Amino acid sequence: MRIYKVGGAVRDRLLGKPVTDIDWVVVGATTEEMLAKGFRPVGADFPVFLHPKSGEEYALARTERKSGRGYGGFTFHASPEVTLEEDLIRRDLTINAIAEDDQQNLTDPYHGQRDLEARLLRHVSPAFAEDPLRVLRVARFAARYATLGFTVAPETLALMRQLSESGELEALTPERSWKEISRALMEDQPQVFVEVLRACGALKVLMPEVDALFGVPQPPAHHPEIDTGAHTLSVLQQAALHKQPLTVRWACLLHDLGKGLTPEEEWPRHIAHEFKGLKLIKAINERFKAPRDCQELALLVGEYHTHGHRALDLKPSTLLELLQSFDIYRRPQRFEEFIAACEMDARGRKGLEERSYPQANYLRGAATAARSVAVQPLLEKGFKGPELGEEIKRERLKALKAYKETASI
Ligand code: ATP
Ligand code: MG
Repeated sequence: MRIYKVGGAVRDRLLGKPVTDIDWVVVGATTEEMLAKGFRPVGADFPVFLHPKSGEEYALARTERKSGRGYGGFTFHASPEVTLEEDLIRRDLTINAIAEDDQQNLTDPYHGQRDLEARLLRHVSPAFAEDPLRVLRVARFAARYATLGFTVAPETLALMRQLSESGELEALTPERSWKEISRALMEDQPQVFVEVLRACGALKVLMPEVDALFGVPQPPAHHPEIDTGAHTLSVLQQAALHKQPLTVRWACLLHDLGKGLTPEEEWPRHIAHEFKGLKLIKAINERFKAPRDCQELALLVGEYHTHGHRALDLKPSTLLELLQSFDIYRRPQRFEEFIAACEMDARGRKGLEERSYPQANYLRGAATAARSVAVQPLLEKGFKGPELGEEIKRERLKALKAYKETASI
């Protein structure tokens, strides 16, 4: 049997990038031989094994044939006769279809090295169109390598468009889609992921609510970039620049969805877009079965981001309602993430990227003031039940009034 490194490990070494996980392909072996060597099989009908020591993935060389809709609609053929070239041709991109032996000799039948140099994400063969997940994968790689100057080859984008129009994207499971979306959002240039999906028509299918933001104007005084879609992309870019976690990036992507519902006659104003957007945020959350923390933050940021921007003008009672809505007493981290998303929203405006955001510290100070109200003395005074709750609120309001008067920003 011959063993080669393939995929990301070879690609990233050639790019001079750190290699984290290594995928291997095994040519000329049978399942029985692998098991005899102590490899552990993963999955039932998939000829993939884990190395007994390193835990890395070793796949038997295989060919694939499309046999139906979606990811389940594939038949695999693995046998010792399948050649390295036959295995490489089923891979998505030429830069992912280079194999390397233990002497660092490369097998590169589809010219992945040439495309690495040309900075091109190019499909290996027309069979690319057989798996709709590849649309998301290519968009994710575009987001990851945009900084290095990579773009999607026009003929690959054309195939992605064909896939998007064929209805095949609908066959993706929420789990597989979310895995790609969440990884893409954590890349260096997550906005490129959205741009590429939009360019091939996949955004309209997967996230019509986000697609609808392009072409919707906002008031130039607050939003020099005007276009709501362009703004959303900039907010996402700021979130990556500021190394925000996934929860914040997801909330950034969805915060303005309500603006896509504004009737044209009301443009460029978007009255109550925060509230109107909630049902869209909920729908998209559920479509991809986003994790609970992502879902929650997106809804809260959608509803309250304008409160964040107007923090310094909020009445103490409104400020208190905001803090209560976030349950800052038990969920301090979530409020920090809200503040971060608001700041990214403010910075995601053309020419205002560097402007300071005093609201952030003001909100933190308000949270500290509200939290400083001690419950014990109120218990000692004999308050209990709903009365205790009311009294705590009164004390917190007092603390916020005092805070508002003294806060220096
Ligand atoms: P990463 O750095 O994200 O791990 P990777 O290229 O190693 O990138 P993996 O998902 O680990 O990506 O897959 C390993 C290899 O398997 C890919 O490089 C590619 O050759 C192939 N591959 C994975 N998924 C697909 C797919 N859906 N269609 C075609 N080829 C795929
Ligand atoms: Mg990999």
